[in-house]
Amino acid sequence: MANYRLMTPGPVSVPQEARLAMAQEQRNHRTAEFRAVLAELHTGLAEILATRNQICLLTSSGTGGMEAAVANLVAAGENGQTGSKVIVLESGKFAERWSLMAERFGAEVVRYTVPWGDSFDPAELERLLAVHPDTVAVFATLSESSTGVGHRIPEFGEIVARTPAVFVVDAISGAGCMDCETDAWRIDLLVVGSQKALMGPPGAAMVAVSEKGWRRIESLPRRPVFYFDLLAYRKTWTKSDTPYTPATATFLALNESVKLIRREGVSRFRHRAQRLARATRAGVVALGMRLVAERPADGLTAAYLPDGVDVAVFLKRLETGYGVKLAGGQGPLTGKICRVAHMGNVDTVDILGTLAAIEMVLREMGAAIVPGSGVAAAQESLLNEFEAE
Ligand SMILES: *Cc1c(COP(=O)(O)O)cnc(C)c1O
Repeated sequence: MANYRLMTPGPVSVPQEARLAMAQEQRNHRTAEFRAVLAELHTGLAEILATRNQICLLTSSGTGGMEAAVANLVAAGENGQTGSKVIVLESGKFAERWSLMAERFGAEVVRYTVPWGDSFDPAELERLLAVHPDTVAVFATLSESSTGVGHRIPEFGEIVARTPAVFVVDAISGAGCMDCETDAWRIDLLVVGSQKALMGPPGAAMVAVSEKGWRRIESLPRRPVFYFDLLAYRKTWTKSDTPYTPATATFLALNESVKLIRREGVSRFRHRAQRLARATRAGVVALGMRLVAERPADGLTAAYLPDGVDVAVFLKRLETGYGVKLAGGQGPLTGKICRVAHMGNVDTVDILGTLAAIEMVLREMGAAIVPGSGVAAAQESLLNEFEAE
C-alpha cells in the first residue's frame, strides 16, 4: 500500500503537531486558557495576513466567511427598489460564488467576467467603478482555485480605495502561500479558511475587517444575519472571545499550524510554496501539459492533461497506485485538467514524487511522454534557485 499524499488545493496535509492538538481532552472554551489560544492565533494570523485589523474567527468552512462578508455588506431592495450595487470580478468557480451569494442576499450584481484562466485588467475595473459610482462593494479572489490564477489584488485595491466602495477579497487558498498585504493593499474584508495554505483542518474561517469595512457594516440599518453578524464578533473580541461555541479542536490545531509557520518564518514559508510552484509548473509544462492560468497562483497548479487521457481514470490510478491525491477540474474544466497543490505542509520530495507518479500513470495510459522529463525540469528549476540564493 502506497503512503497517502494529499496534494489537493484544500484540504491539505496537516502537520503532526496540529493533528495531536485535536486529540486533547475536551475543555470548556470560556476559560482563560482557551482565550489565550485564540489571542495567540489572532497574533499569528495578523502577522501572516500583514494586518492590524481585527480578524473575526468563525466556525464554518471558508464559504461561511464569504457569506459573512456578503450578508454584512449588502442590503436587499425593498418596496420595488433595487438592492445594493456590487461589482464582482468573476472568472472561475469561486469568484462565481461571490455573485451567487450577493444575488441571494438581494444585491444588484455587476459582473466583470473574463474567460476562466485569464486575469482581469485594472483599467476595466476603474471604468466600471466610474460607470457605477453607487457601487458599495467590489468582490475579488486572490487565488482562484478552480483555474490556478493569481489575481492583481494590489492594483485593484488601490483603485477601489479611491471610491466609497469596500474591497472584499477571498484569499482562502492564497493567504499563507502568496504575498497578501491586507492593509497595504487596502483590503477591507479579507476572507481566509483554515484548511488551505494555513495547514489547519477544515472548520474555521477568518474575516479581517478594516475601519472602512466596519463603517459600511454599521451603516446598514437591517442586516439579515445572526450567527454571522460580524458586529457580534467584534464585540466579544474585546475579551478574546467568540460569540458562540467555536470548533475548539479546529482552532487548537490551526493555532499549532500557525505557530509552525511563524517558527519557519512567514516569508520563508511563503517562499517555499512559491519555489515549489515554479518547479511544479516547469515539470508539467515539460510533460506537454498546458497551464490553465495566464497568471499563475502560488498555491496550486492547474494544467490540461494530454489529449486522449481520461482524467477520472488518471486521478483514480494516481490515488490507488501511488497514493497521490490530486484534484480534477470544476465547471467547464471538468474532465480536462488536474490541479496539484503546493501549499503548506508540502516539500520538495512530495513535488518530485508527484511529478514522477504523474509520468508513470500517463505512460501506463499510453501517453507519449518521456519518463523523468517532468521531474528533470522541476529539479533544474529547484537547483537554479538554490544556486541563486
Ligand atoms: C476552498 C475555497 C473556497 C471555499 O472554501 P470551503 O472551505 O470549501 O467553503 C472559496 N474560495 C477559494 C478560492 C477556495 O480555494
